[in-house]
Amino acid sequence: MPYRTIIEPFRIHSVQAIRYPTPEERLAALEAAGYNLFGLHADDVIIDLLTDSGTGAMSSKQWAGMMDGDESYAGSKSYYRFRDTIKELTGFAEIIPTHQGRAAERILFAVTVHAGDVVPNNTHFDTTRANVEYQHAEARDLVIAEGHDPSSLHPFKGNMDVAALEATFDDVDRDRIPLAMMTVTNNSGGGQPVSMANLRAVSELCRNRGIPFFLDACRFAENAWFIKLREPGYEDRTPREIAREMFSLADGCTMSAKKDGLANIGGFIGLNDRDLARDCRNLLILTEGFPTYGGLAGYDLEAIAQGLDEVLDEEYLRYRVRSTAYLAEKVLAAGVPIIQPPGGHAVYLDAAALLPHIPPHEYPGQALAAELYLDGGVRGVEMGSVMFATRHEDGTETPAPMELVRLAVPRRTYTQSHIDYVAEVMIDVAQRAEHLRGFRIVEQAPWLRHFTCRFEPIADP
Ligand SMILES: *Cc1c(COP(=O)(O)O)cnc(C)c1O
Repeated sequence: MPYRTIIEPFRIHSVQAIRYPTPEERLAALEAAGYNLFGLHADDVIIDLLTDSGTGAMSSKQWAGMMDGDESYAGSKSYYRFRDTIKELTGFAEIIPTHQGRAAERILFAVTVHAGDVVPNNTHFDTTRANVEYQHAEARDLVIAEGHDPSSLHPFKGNMDVAALEATFDDVDRDRIPLAMMTVTNNSGGGQPVSMANLRAVSELCRNRGIPFFLDACRFAENAWFIKLREPGYEDRTPREIAREMFSLADGCTMSAKKDGLANIGGFIGLNDRDLARDCRNLLILTEGFPTYGGLAGYDLEAIAQGLDEVLDEEYLRYRVRSTAYLAEKVLAAGVPIIQPPGGHAVYLDAAALLPHIPPHEYPGQALAAELYLDGGVRGVEMGSVMFATRHEDGTETPAPMELVRLAVPRRTYTQSHIDYVAEVMIDVAQRAEHLRGFRIVEQAPWLRHFTCRFEPIADP
C-alpha cells in the first residue's frame, strides 16, 4: 500500500465490553491475590497484556470452521484438515495434536529425555524448562551473548551460540543429549528472532553429531517475518516459503497453537521419525486422547487449521510486528528502558534499569508489574527472578540474568487507543519510580512458582 500508516488489516465484527474497576477495587483485588497478578479475576483488569497465548481474536472464517467441526471420536474430517495443513506447512510426516504446547513438550520429553541428560536450547521457555527438569535432566540455555544485553541492537538476538553448542556436544556424552531445541522466536529472551543462517548452522551441527534437532515453533510466523525484514536474501520470499525453509532444517517441532495458530487452545508435535511418533501416540492416548483429536474438540482443530493459514498473510504480519513496535516507541517515550529492538509479540520493560534501588532478591519486575496494575489496571507479567531465579536447596537463589516485565500484545484484540492508554499509565509510573518498593515471597510451589506464589510488599525502611 502506498500510505505510511499501517492499519489493522481487519474490521471489528464482534466486541466484548471492558469493565473499569476503581483504584480501591484494584488494590483490594491485588491484596486478595497475594500481589500475584496471575491470581486476579480478569474482570478486575482493564487492559490485559499478561500473555499473547490463546488471548487473540479469531476471524469469521475460524468461527465458520468451528461451526463445521466434526466431533467424531476417531478419524474426524477436522483432524485430516488439521493434519494436512500442518504437513503442508512444516513438511513433517507425523502430526500429533495436543491440548496445548506444554502437553506436546511433556509427551516428547517423557519419551526421549532421561535422568542426567542435557537438553540445549537458545532459551528454554518456562514450561519447556520445567518439563525437561521434571525428567531430572538439565535444560541448558546457550543464546548468543547479545541476547543477554538489553541494549544490543543485534537483528537476531535469539540466535544460538553455535560454539557453545559445539562445546556442549564435545563435553557431554552423545547418548546424554537426546535432542537440541531452538525456540522461535525466543520468548523468554525478549521475543527475539533467530536467523535462517543460525538455524542452518545448528541444524548442520546436530546432523553431523547425530542429534535430533527440534523447533519450539510457537511464533514461527513472526520469526519468518523478521527473517524477511532483516536477513539478506529473504526480502522477496513469502512468509510461507521462509517458514517452510525453517521447518525443513529441523527433525521435528513442538507447537502451541495459542500463539501463531491464532487459536484459543491447542498444540501439536510434528515429527519425521515413525518409531518416535508411535511412542508419543501411545503416551498421548494415556493422557490426552485418541491420536485424531489429542485433547482437542473437532472445532478446535478447524480453528487451528484456518489460523495457521491466516497467520502467514503478509498484511497480518506487517500489522502484527508494527503494533508491537508502536507500543515499544510509546514506552520508550515514557522514559522506560526496554529490550531493544522490540520483539514480535511483546515489549519487555527493563525493571532493573528503571528501579535500580530494588535488588534482584526483592523482585524489581514484580514491583513494576504490580504498580502498572494499581495505577491503570494494566496487567503485564514479571519475567525476572520470580520466574527464572535458580533456587538452591538451602533456600537461597541465584538471580535471573535480567529483571523484566513483559507486556504481551494479544493478536487482533486491542486498538491503537488502548495502547495509547497503556503509555499514559507507563509515564505516570515511571515518574514515581523511586517510590516503588520491592516484594518478598511468602508462599511458593516447587516449580513454576510464578503462577501461584504469594508476595508481601517490603515496607519503607
Ligand atoms: C507458550 C509457549 C509454550 C507452551 O505452550 P502452552 O500452549 O502455553 O502450553 C512453549 N514454548 C514457548 C516458546 C511458548 O511461548
